[in-house]
Amino acid sequence: MYDTLPLLNKLNFPTITRNSLQTLQVNIGLKCNQQCLHCHVNASPRRTEMMSAATLAVVKSFLATKKIATLDITGGAPELHPEFRDLVSYARGHNIHVIDRCNLTILTEPGMGDLATFLATNAVEIIASLPCYESDNVDMQRGTGVFEKSIKALRQLNSVGYGYADTALTLNLVFNPQGAALPPPQLELENTYKQVLLERYDITFNQLFTLCNMPIKRFGSTLISTHQLDDYMTLLKQSHRHENLENVMCRHLISVDWQGYVYDCDFNQMLALNLENNGDKVHLSALMDTDIEGTDIAVRDHCYGCTAGQGSSCGGALKP
Ligand code: SF4
Ligand code: SF4
Repeated sequence: MYDTLPLLNKLNFPTITRNSLQTLQVNIGLKCNQQCLHCHVNASPRRTEMMSAATLAVVKSFLATKKIATLDITGGAPELHPEFRDLVSYARGHNIHVIDRCNLTILTEPGMGDLATFLATNAVEIIASLPCYESDNVDMQRGTGVFEKSIKALRQLNSVGYGYADTALTLNLVFNPQGAALPPPQLELENTYKQVLLERYDITFNQLFTLCNMPIKRFGSTLISTHQLDDYMTLLKQSHRHENLENVMCRHLISVDWQGYVYDCDFNQMLALNLENNGDKVHLSALMDTDIEGTDIAVRDHCYGCTAGQGSSCGGALKP
């Protein structure tokens, strides 16, 4: 696989600094029941990396000490970690909003029959990838049969109250483009998704988040091997909107890997681009007594993926 990091420092992305920390995004393990072609963490059923009990204890302590507002749990399939439910319960017990980055099909796996109820009981927000409402496109990206299982899982979530405007159980879906193009306008696509999923499958959800493809990892490697990297970077830079800089997610979020090391965001984690700290890795435990507000964020040219057009973050478009 080609590495794009050495090529991501030519376009001079503007300097940005951190605001107050609100969200801790934690990758608790790389094991997944799926093995998607586009997976940017190379998760699969064969991966064994899981956050240890000691690191989970650091995460819990950090959440409470720093009075973090939102815990955003990701993986792999985070629900496969044996301590997933304990972590959720701990956070909810401290009145922390919890997001589960759910691949949907995990809800249909053996032994997961009560997962939807557990998530609903704890009012966990679900953010789930559904890159298209057409089965062929989803199965091509995520594996044969994934669309059908995803529909089954969405029905399960609706049946316990997720996805309706009048409940507090939030179910958001995620779209990203198939290739080297910016996502379409988020609200227009959301309306189409809602109409199709309701008419064909009687499924309802709250919001659609459109995300820009980042020129890193497998997608970045594909851009290099197909000689599209320069054109894509030009598109991102020409579409840059300065006002999006105010709201990029790294302003208020840090991302923690399964070993407890900290990055400015999930993308920087995938690039192994450490916090601005003389190039050294920083463990979450080292930040327990440190105020990072006002510190510089480690930016490179991939950051134009967050500021191009309507903007892009783990919560979708910045200016839908
Ligand atoms: S479901 Fe998500 S974590 Fe699992 S392989 Fe697919 S993209 Fe990766
Ligand atoms: S890629 Fe990460 S560091 Fe760069 S702007 Fe986006 S969130 Fe911030």
